Amino acid sequence: MKRIWQNLSLRTKITGLVSSLTVSGVFILTIISIQLEKQYFQQDLESQADLLLETTSLSLRDPLYNLQVDELWGLARALSDNPDLIFFIAYDAQGKTLVDSRNTEPAFSREIDPLGSVLVELQPNQIHREWLDDQYISGRSVVLGNQTIGAIAASLSTSPLKEKINDMTVESIFLALMTGLTSALLGFWLANQITIPLSELAHGADQMSKGNMSIRVNPSSNDEIGQLARAFNLMVTSIQEREKALRDLAVGLEQTVEERTAALLEKTTILEQMAITDPLTKILNRRHFFTLAEKEMAKATRHKRPLAIILIDADYFKQINDMHGHPFGDQMLINLTSMIQLNIRAMDIFARYGGEEFILLMPETGPESAFLTAERLRKIVASSPQSHDGKKINLSISLGVACSDEAAETSITTLVARADQALYESKRGGRNATTLWEPREN
Ligand code: GH3
Ligand code: MG
Ligand code: MG
Repeated sequence: MKRIWQNLSLRTKITGLVSSLTVSGVFILTIISIQLEKQYFQQDLESQADLLLETTSLSLRDPLYNLQVDELWGLARALSDNPDLIFFIAYDAQGKTLVDSRNTEPAFSREIDPLGSVLVELQPNQIHREWLDDQYISGRSVVLGNQTIGAIAASLSTSPLKEKINDMTVESIFLALMTGLTSALLGFWLANQITIPLSELAHGADQMSKGNMSIRVNPSSNDEIGQLARAFNLMVTSIQEREKALRDLAVGLEQTVEERTAALLEKTTILEQMAITDPLTKILNRRHFFTLAEKEMAKATRHKRPLAIILIDADYFKQINDMHGHPFGDQMLINLTSMIQLNIRAMDIFARYGGEEFILLMPETGPESAFLTAERLRKIVASSPQSHDGKKINLSISLGVACSDEAAETSITTLVARADQALYESKRGGRNATTLWEPREN
């Protein structure tokens, strides 16, 4: 039962409740009015019978006393004109029936009638009342002076009441049906007032749960449901705004992260660059030179290709520093770097070896070609004096060249050591010179 009730729609519940309440109300009212009607009818019937007995007892007194049966009979016949009268009986002092309106002639009964015997025993103003299924019997004694001279009884039909009750029952059924129908329609209308906006709200909530934040419901009234619809719309708007704020925040955060990452990347690049660069001349430092050189050497060995190392050392640089100052010496080192850089290939690896010494790795270069390059560089430097305080300052370099042995595997360290030996030779020979390391020198 509970499950059936739970599964019913709100519309059916309201419609059913309203119509059944109305129908039961109509039935209850009908039952009450039938009861009241019955009471009124009974009272009415009782007073009718009382009046009838009262008046009849007066006109019967003499014929009863004198036992004038014909007169009594005439009276009984006259009373029979009343359509509701079932019978009228007059009894003698013993309770024997003298006349009965239902008979065609007077009775002159020798038997004492049970009702008659009861009636003659009654006090003058006492009334006997008896309700049967279809009739009401009322009776009293007839007294003359102090003497009971007989009794009378009348019975009135209750069928008018029954007919009336039947009519009222039919009417009430019709009324109940009509009000049931009307209240069902009213209930249906009432239910729609509630369920249609509720369904719209349920649809709105469903749409919202699916992410449709543009959904709004129509607050068609100002009642509680209308207020609920307005509150729902406000809620969706506020969620939509918060969602947008969150999205904006996320976009902002993403942008900040991107910017920070870019800045970090830039700093990392700078740091990486700094880690491999010589701060004065901005060319590669010694450590990174060796990293690259190892790779080049491995490549050259793998492909059996020639590779040359040239060590370059500025001549008498201490003197230049001493004579023209350390800052000028720095500038000379920068200029020397530029001169060399301008005259080597992109594939060559050029680095500051330390102090006023530089190193150059030339891939795909044999001894002759390397020697020629070294010589070319030496001549360029020697023929490019630098100005300081209006004076021309000459600078020369000494170079040592060593080449990898294509037949035997040579390490970078060995090659650098050989170039250093050759450089030493250039210095020993008077500086501003190039020496190519050759095996026989060992
Ligand atoms: P050599 O011809 O035998 O090479 O003589 P040299 O004076 O160049 O050699 P030495 O090794 O005696 O002196 C090197 C000088 O180079 C000493 C040092 O002050 C200078 N020097 C080294 N690094 C720098 C630098 O970064 N800036 C300046 N201005 N001078 C430097
Ligand atoms: Mg030196
Ligand atoms: Mg030197």
